[in-house]
Amino acid sequence: MSVQDRREELERNLAGVRGRIERACAAAGREPGSVGLTVVTKFFPASDVRLLAELGVTDVGENRHQEAEAKAAECADLGLRWHYIGGLQSNKAAAVARYADVVESVDRAKLVGRLAAGAVERGAEVEVLLQVSLDPPGADHRAGADPDDLPALADAVEAADGLRLAGLMAVAPLGEDPAEAFARLAAVRADLLQVHPGAARLSAGMSGDLEQAVAAGATHVRVGSAILGSRPPAR
Ligand SMILES: *Cc1c(COP(=O)(O)O)cnc(C)c1O
Repeated sequence: MSVQDRREELERNLAGVRGRIERACAAAGREPGSVGLTVVTKFFPASDVRLLAELGVTDVGENRHQEAEAKAAECADLGLRWHYIGGLQSNKAAAVARYADVVESVDRAKLVGRLAAGAVERGAEVEVLLQVSLDPPGADHRAGADPDDLPALADAVEAADGLRLAGLMAVAPLGEDPAEAFARLAAVRADLLQVHPGAARLSAGMSGDLEQAVAAGATHVRVGSAILGSRPPAR
């Protein structure tokens, strides 16, 4: 595909997703423009990131450290905000904080000191979202902190130099109506806001469930395949 054809494809897909977000806001009685878009560029080349930036995208998400680090370096001239949304190994956390402006997948206290060290070294504040597990208790856990563990985790982030507690992130579990999962998320968020009123961001909703997330109060959706196309099957 030529660069021009790819540009047109991305432009069309972006317009489609922006339209879905606007309609979801209208349906929920929310201001159009109250929901930000993070485009998830994992598996796709830096050339696509560059086209997206030309098309007005400001925020991109990546979920694997090596790929993210390389792409962020290659695209350093674009002024994008890089969101790290993937599983985080504690021995990689400091390195992630050196290029990620937002780390959305903080789910255990062990990561906090390492992220803070990376942020301090970099000399820039890194925004942190706590990833909440929406799995029923006892389920085979996907990533995310148990809601009961959030207060202590939030306090640890608040106390760390170089980090700013910005809010929560979650992924709806497979095999459940996302509206039900996001309703639980909204309740968890309301509890957190009582204690940490500044942690108002809610990153939820992907290509398949952004409408349900916006209805439940998401302030940011993370959309990959509906914009970039399908990825190779997960390895
Ligand atoms: C890949 C990914 C997304 C985007 O998923 P799509 O279904 O392609 O929109 C969103 N959030 C996380 C955490 C992801 O890993």
